[in-house]
Order: sequence, then structure tokens, then C-alpha cells
Amino acid sequence: MKPNLDRAIELLRDKERLLAFTGAGISTESGIPDFRGPQGVWKKVDPSEFTFDKYVNNAETRIRSWEMRKQSGVLDAQPNTAHRALVDLWVSGLLSGVVTQNIDGLHQAAGLPSEAVVELHGNVQRVECLECEAGWPTEVVIARVDAGEADPRCPECGGIIKVSVISFGQAMPVLEMQRASELAVACDAMVAIGSTLSVYPAAYVPLEAKQTGARYVIVNQGATEQDHLADVVVEGAAGEVLPAMVDALA
Ligand code: NAD
Repeated sequence: MKPNLDRAIELLRDKERLLAFTGAGISTESGIPDFRGPQGVWKKVDPSEFTFDKYVNNAETRIRSWEMRKQSGVLDAQPNTAHRALVDLWVSGLLSGVVTQNIDGLHQAAGLPSEAVVELHGNVQRVECLECEAGWPTEVVIARVDAGEADPRCPECGGIIKVSVISFGQAMPVLEMQRASELAVACDAMVAIGSTLSVYPAAYVPLEAKQTGARYVIVNQGATEQDHLADVVVEGAAGEVLPAMVDALA
């Protein structure tokens, strides 16, 4: 048993409205690299090259973005044991929802109903036109890139098209932030999983839960920026810790 896992289970045992807050670390065991972990994307790529401003104003940035989407493996990834453990918790009636920073759609792919998932940073499986808001599954657009359109445009209006994810410099989705806040205030325990808890405003969500009285458990490999605020920090791989935790609770 991992150090602190027993303590986390004891702390969560009598709780009835658990809220999960997930980050890139829950999906590394599905083969998707995180941003700031030891193998993180930002160790290889400069994030300032991929701002919303650069995407809109620079065809080279868009071309590189489509190539990176194809190579990232995100579009083909499958859920892992951590995603599935959260589904088990949902089925048991103890999970009030999942607020995720992830854009991979793996919580829903694992079997959570879409109403149980709040996506703060969007979903990479969908592409939208920035001008007329027409939309397509990302695989349809990737097929166009593969067929030779390096910088595909909207077939309806000629506008720039982009995966439905929030880039640096882009506004947060208002309804999702509101929903996340409602869930945070209503939960009696917050479990943050696989996140450095360093990206704001998303990282306010667990803080809001803690400040309104929820117990706070962090499951992560490596330090987070909120370790000092948690009731228990469980160091370990989400794919091992979560199934053990859910087995004990559900
Ligand atoms: P982050 O990269 O800042 O932090 C990830 C944390 O998870 C690190 O501390 C890392 O050591 C830890 N970790 C890695 N593998 C783990 C595992 N198996 N079990 C437990 N912990 C593990 O990620 P973040 O805090 O989510 O913030 C970065 C931003 O990255 C988010 O806004 C998100 O939109 C974006 N992102 C998403 C994906 C995805 O959708 N899968 C992937 C990369 C980045």
C-alpha cells in the first residue's frame, strides 16, 4: 500500500459527494505526455509559440499545430485504469462529477456520461470555425490535412478553423467555470489527480472546494503547488492509486 493511501481512504470513507479534479497526469498511462512532468511536452516545445494570437495570425503556427495534433497520439488514446476507477465511483453514487483540465475526452471514453464531466479547457476531438462556428469531428479535418491541406479552412465561410481547446491567451468558457464552481462548493471531498495545480484559473476549483469546507486529497507523482493545503497527499501513479482507493470506498 502506498504511503498515505490508507489515510486518504479513512478521510474519504464517510463522504458522499466526491468531486474529482483531473490533469494531464491521469492520462500519461494512456500514452499522452503531460506538460510539466519529467517527460512533459513543454520540455521539448516552447509554449509561447502556440498562443491563440500566433495561431490566428500565423499560418506556420497553424501548420505546426495540425502536425503536432497528428503526432501527439491524443486522438487515438484509450482510457486507463484511473479513468475507469472514476467510472466505478460514479456508478456507486459517490462521485458528484469530474472537473477536468484535460482535452482528451478520456473520461467520457471510459464511460462517464457527458453531464458528469466539466471540460475547462475544451476537447480535442472537435474542430470549430473561429468565424462562423461551424464544427466537425477532428478526424474529418485530420483527413483533409493528410490529403494535402496543410492549413485547412472552413468549407462554409473560408474562416480559420481550430480544435475546440483553450489556447494560451484565449478566454475560459464561462458556463464550464460556473458549473465547476457550483460542484466545488457542493462537494464534501475534493480529489485532485495528476496535476501540478499550477494553471489558473482552473486551479482555483480545488481551492474553492477546500475553502468551503471540503476535505482535500491530492494524488500525484511529484510535488504540486497545493500540497501544503491538502489534508493528505498520496504520491503515486493514478492508474495504481485510484483503483485501490475506489475499491476501498465504493
Ligand atoms: P501538468 O503537466 O502541469 O502536471 C501533470 C502532473 O501529473 C505532474 O506533476 C506529473 O508529474 C504528474 N503525473 C504524470 N503522470 C502521472 C501519473 N501516472 N499519475 C499521477 N501523476 C502523474 O498538467 P496539468 O496540471 O493538467 O496542467 C497542464 C495543462 O495541460 C492543462 O491545462 C491541460 O489542458 C493540458 N494538457 C492536457 C493533456 C491531456 O488532455 N491529456 C495533456 C497535456 C497537457
